[in-house]
Amino acid sequence: MRTPLIAGNWKMYKTVPEAVALVEALLRGLPAMDGCEALVCPPFTALHAVGGLLRDTPIGLGGQDVFYEAQGAYTGAISAPMLRDAGCAYVIVGHSERRQIFGEGDALVNRKLRAALAHSLRPILCVGETKPQRDAGQAETIVVGQVRAGLAEVGDAALPEVVIAYEPVWAIGTGDTATPADAQAMHATIRHTLVELYGMQAAEQVRIQYGGSVKPDNVDELMSQPDIDGALVGGASLTAESFLRIIGFRQ
Ligand code: PEP
Repeated sequence: MRTPLIAGNWKMYKTVPEAVALVEALLRGLPAMDGCEALVCPPFTALHAVGGLLRDTPIGLGGQDVFYEAQGAYTGAISAPMLRDAGCAYVIVGHSERRQIFGEGDALVNRKLRAALAHSLRPILCVGETKPQRDAGQAETIVVGQVRAGLAEVGDAALPEVVIAYEPVWAIGTGDTATPADAQAMHATIRHTLVELYGMQAAEQVRIQYGGSVKPDNVDELMSQPDIDGALVGGASLTAESFLRIIGFRQ
């Protein structure tokens, strides 16, 4: 009942010519998108060029971040209306690199998420614990706290627009993936939190992606878990061959 969403986060990679070449290769090799949604999130500078190529194709476009104001004197920031104008349907908020390197906290992430919703962008809310937090037995507390804070003041009607990405920080870019069973357990905890906040029916509609070293050789097992509804893919989304294999996951 939930359409899986495979999203590629290109981070700070790809000039415009490189981005165009990657999208052209993706479109050439795209498998039949039977009941699955795919999305790429290029850097801001490549959004326009990539968006033009993706128009009327099965691959969607997303931003990697957004500021909460619509416009104003916010040097370096990009707003939700600007992302919409570039053709984006989704935006990532609260990625661990934004939280850790740029010092973003839950309150800011929540403002960004609500700004996205207010401008008809679907937010992908990233949550996840660090290695020391996991080792200290705090993983669930941290993740549940991030989910609750990220969704503060988000009403029932908006919830189905939200995607949650569980990305254990220790698994991002490290090759150290959570086991499918551990990932499933955390996804079930996140869904239980959504049930507490919004009720069973609404919680069942929300897609929860797993992210953290998703690769062609582990995607099938991850995607076979009942509460894993997609993947947020970093490194393996940077080449057409690996991302196409991930989009074409077999359950
Ligand atoms: C990410 O950037 O969200 C991510 C999960 O990266 P990687 O797949 O490289 O671990």
